[in-house]
Amino acid sequence: MSSIRTVFVLAALALAGLNPLAAFAQATPEAAPAVVVTEEFGPVPAGAAGPAIPEVGYLVEEIDSGLYWVTEGLYQAIFLTTGEGVIVVDAPPTIGPNLAAAIASVTDEPVTHLVYSHHHADHIGAAPQFENVEIVAHEDTAALLERSADPNRPLPTVTFADTYELTVGSQTLELAYPGNNHEPGNIFIYAPAQKTLMLVDVVFPGWAPFPDLGVVEDVPGYVAAHDAALAYDFETFVGGHLTRLGTREDVEIAQEYVLDVRENAGEALATVDFMAIAQEVGFENPWLLFDVYLDTVAQTCADATIPVWADRLGGTDVVAFGHCWVMAESLRID
Ligand SMILES: [Zn+2]
Repeated sequence: MSSIRTVFVLAALALAGLNPLAAFAQATPEAAPAVVVTEEFGPVPAGAAGPAIPEVGYLVEEIDSGLYWVTEGLYQAIFLTTGEGVIVVDAPPTIGPNLAAAIASVTDEPVTHLVYSHHHADHIGAAPQFENVEIVAHEDTAALLERSADPNRPLPTVTFADTYELTVGSQTLELAYPGNNHEPGNIFIYAPAQKTLMLVDVVFPGWAPFPDLGVVEDVPGYVAAHDAALAYDFETFVGGHLTRLGTREDVEIAQEYVLDVRENAGEALATVDFMAIAQEVGFENPWLLFDVYLDTVAQTCADATIPVWADRLGGTDVVAFGHCWVMAESLRID
């Protein structure tokens, strides 16, 4: 899978107009294994494309009424000008100090508040650029950050369990946690005045989810998060990735995809014959037997999923096998 994932990332970077080498600068070139492309993948559908990234390396655009999004083509952060300081949500390292530059390009207000969508370093690891700010996060995120003890991810100063209303100056964000999904503490961030909902690493507008359903930690919670998102009154959706913002329709399409994967995985579990595979593989090495069985289930599911979705969501042919594998495993044990 690693070569396939590498191809996916390189393709996404190229699509974003970025130099793919820059994102892998921490690797030691002489120690790096050769990249081998073992499969061919279809073209990316037009609906996956996002706006061009200016030469400065980032795009900053107003969504509505003082709410802005910032992207380098792969990751997304948002910020709100309030009249009494800026609220920032997330600080991805790939955007890095360009986030502060983007904010300074549209307002003189200082950044006073930072919200963490969840604890993952790839979304908040550039937080230290904002000093002496109030940091708001879910209590599970705080616990995970304490364990990580990462100086690039300062601990929250305010935590909550279920809901939290953050009002600064003229603006309000409604934060809510309906339960585990992508990972514990991954919250819904809603700007009611702008009818904008942010939920990171669940829905990827225009694209199939990141491999393994966005490296999901709770598959039933992940599926339920789509319903929870659609319960909000929103017009703009911010997924934290990939190329563009989303709409309500993007979330509905993502829900249709994940329910399709669930149905196809269930069908594959019901039809792939474990004992027939056992007769071929034998019981001597149970890991080999399970590996062949689960891969056959996932491939059967992927074969049903890809023809329907390859033209609708970018990268489906790259990632559907892994989505099916994770979903089938969840259906077996959750
Ligand atoms: Zn994440």
